[in-house]
Amino acid sequence: MEVGEGVTSVKPGDRVSGAPLVPCMKCDDCQNGNFSLCRHYSFIGSRQQGSNADYVVIPEQNAVVFDKSISYEQGAMFEPSTVALHGLFQNDYRGGEYTAVLGGGTIGMFTMQWAKIFGAKKVVVFDISEERLELAKRLGADEAINTTEEGFKEKAMALTEGKGFSYVFETAGQVPTMQMAFELAANKASVCFIGTPHVDLSFTSSMWENMNRKEFKLTGSWMSYSSPFPGKEWKLTAHYFATGQLKFDPGFVYKMPMSQAQEAFQLFKTPGLVKGKILLVNE
Ligand SMILES: [Zn+2]
Repeated sequence: MEVGEGVTSVKPGDRVSGAPLVPCMKCDDCQNGNFSLCRHYSFIGSRQQGSNADYVVIPEQNAVVFDKSISYEQGAMFEPSTVALHGLFQNDYRGGEYTAVLGGGTIGMFTMQWAKIFGAKKVVVFDISEERLELAKRLGADEAINTTEEGFKEKAMALTEGKGFSYVFETAGQVPTMQMAFELAANKASVCFIGTPHVDLSFTSSMWENMNRKEFKLTGSWMSYSSPFPGKEWKLTAHYFATGQLKFDPGFVYKMPMSQAQEAFQLFKTPGLVKGKILLVNE
C-alpha cells in the first residue's frame, strides 16, 4: 500500500477497508451528513474502477483503518455490516425490545448481530433455508423461524407474548417478507426496509391496514453513511470486529479465486444458484 502526498490518517502497512461511496460533499444532502442520499456521487466499483484489481486508488477519507487482529476476509465484510447498522440507526434502534430480522442473508446476519450488540431483549431471524437459520443460531440469534412451515406466524407471535415485534427489519427485499413485516409488527413498532425490491409488490387492504391499526412507523434505509464521513457505521464495524462481538462466518460467502472472476459473475445469472455473496480471493 502507498499513500499520496498530504495523507495523514493512513500509512503503509495499515489494514484498511474501502468505503465505496464518493459523495459530492457540496449538495444539501451531503452538507446535512446524509451522504447516502447524494445525487451527484461517484462509486468505487460501479461508476469508477473498483477493487477487482491488483491496486485501487481511493480517497483518504474512504480508507477505514482496522486492527491487525481482523482478517482481510472480515475487511471485505465491512460494507454489508455497515448497511445493516445504518438500518438500525434509521429505525432509531434501542435495546430491551423484541426484534425481528426478516431474511437470513449476509445483511440479515449482521442486522441480527447488531441488534444483539445493542441489547435486544430477543432477536428472531426468519428465513426459508434451514442452513441459514442454523447459521443465525450459531451467531447468536435467540430464535430462528422457518417461514415455509405452517403456523410460523403464531409461533413467532408466541415468542413475543402475543404482542409482536417492536422492531422489524426487512432485509430480503422479497414480497412475502415485506408483507410479513406489516403482520409481525407490534403496536407502535418501528419497521425498517433495508432490502431492495426487484419486483412489483402488492398488499391486500387488510394487510396494509396493519400500519393504521398498529400505528407503526415505517422507514427505508439506503447504503451506510453518516457524518463525519464515512460515519459511525464504519467506525463501529472496525471496533466490534476487533472486540470479537461482531462475527464473520465463512458461511456468509462463497469463495472463488480472482482468476475466476468472470465465472463468478456468470453464476449470478442463474437465480438461486448462489445464495449470498461471492468473495473473490487473491491466490
Ligand atoms: Zn452530495
